[in-house]
Amino acid sequence: MAKKKRDRIKDLLADQPRDGILVQGWVRTRRDSKGGFSFIEVNDGSCLKNIQIIADHKLDSLKDWDKLLTTGSCVSVHGNLVASEGKGQSVEVQAASIEVHGSADPEHYPLQKKFHSLEYLREISHLRPRTNTIGAVMRVRNRLAYSIHRFFNDRGFVYLHTPIITTSDCEGAGEMFQVTTLDMADPPKNDGRVDYNEDFFGKKTSLTVSGQLEAEIYAMALSLVYTFGPTFRAENSNTSRHLAEFWMIEPEMAFYDLDDNMELAQEFIQFLFKDVLEHCTGDLEFFNQRVDKHLLETLNQVVSHDFERLPYSEAIHLLEKTSEKFEYSVEWGCNLQAEHERHLAEKVFKKPVIIYNYPETIKPFYMKLNEDGETVRAMDVLLPRLGEIIGGSQREDDFDTLMKRIKQKELDPEEYNWYLDLRKYGSAPHSGFGLGFERLVQFTTGVENIRDAIPFPRTPKHAGF
Ligand code: ATP
Ligand code: MN
Repeated sequence: MAKKKRDRIKDLLADQPRDGILVQGWVRTRRDSKGGFSFIEVNDGSCLKNIQIIADHKLDSLKDWDKLLTTGSCVSVHGNLVASEGKGQSVEVQAASIEVHGSADPEHYPLQKKFHSLEYLREISHLRPRTNTIGAVMRVRNRLAYSIHRFFNDRGFVYLHTPIITTSDCEGAGEMFQVTTLDMADPPKNDGRVDYNEDFFGKKTSLTVSGQLEAEIYAMALSLVYTFGPTFRAENSNTSRHLAEFWMIEPEMAFYDLDDNMELAQEFIQFLFKDVLEHCTGDLEFFNQRVDKHLLETLNQVVSHDFERLPYSEAIHLLEKTSEKFEYSVEWGCNLQAEHERHLAEKVFKKPVIIYNYPETIKPFYMKLNEDGETVRAMDVLLPRLGEIIGGSQREDDFDTLMKRIKQKELDPEEYNWYLDLRKYGSAPHSGFGLGFERLVQFTTGVENIRDAIPFPRTPKHAGF
């Protein structure tokens, strides 16, 4: 017999009554009626909503219905889609047969209650996708990923896969995880130091912290490229916006200056939010009700106003004269802390802010030096409540200046030969930025902790289930 096609609950809920449908999913709740039947709510992950199934206890397949049809069990339901008389749904399923693939013992299945804290759910990361919140986060995450590819492909960008294992440290981006096949207990040594000639690659290697430098190589040939891949940072920061493993989107554009870069960053973020507002309405309404009452308002705000553009020096000036008390004091030359970033975006401008022209001393060697010799063409995009979501810059394209900056920062020019070559042969003005994907998901859904914006969060002391 040919396998019957499964009907997605999302489609059925928008459908007209009809016979011969098949629902397959997991039971969320069951309510028994005295009349010899049960109402079961089934979810298949296609949308937030469940579909109601009416299960007659007399069905052949339901001899042990009370033991089998438990919360968490997995079912296939053949039946008819009928108009519902109950409130809350316009259609429901009158079951003709129900097959229970796997039941779930109510004594032990952890997701019995209607509500569980997100902290608790992180301890059962193999089961948490079966909750409304995590299910909705992952559908929004998926839509964002899809529209990121659409945004760039529609504009002629080439999707570039940069390596995960690298020998280069994207200077200043963070601590790196080492990759090695050497015996940690007894590594080969030369003059008392670990001999990496003996290691798998014959060199010390690490997991990438950014694909930028490699993306620059391809931008110098294909003009417009973007990466979208995992990055790794061994920073020991237990915050609600840092992960040890996160995904980053890094466009790199030949012939773009800093202004073009800022323009693209704004267009990109607004495009993504507009798309999600249009295509993830059910999930976003859920977040707006249950997670953050101002979510839709905030997202609509971001898409309908130009981002403020503010030179670093003016940002410092504003922060110095405010009466707001900060944990870290500010002066020209300091790094902006999250509290400062949030103050500017949330309180001063009440919308996204792009800070640009940062002091040369606090930014990496590859950012283009301004004529003042003191600042570089860096830009950070700050969102209300979140702080930094994008970091980017126009890149230094002048060979001599770049060489000087490499030496100034006490880096080894030998290591950057290939990078310098790009300025020796056919150098071009170019710019790019990096957007943290999980921070984007976090902001779009309103979840407070970045650990709930990724299927399996990796943070200090947490790498398992
Ligand atoms: P922050 O100052 O917030 O730690 P950063 O300046 O170190 O970030 P960049 O090196 O500029 O970050 O990386 C580009 C983007 O990647 C950031 O704007 C942010 O959205 C994201 N990002 C950076 N580090 C992390 C992390 N540990 N976890 C999740 N996202 C991150
Ligand atoms: Mn940054």
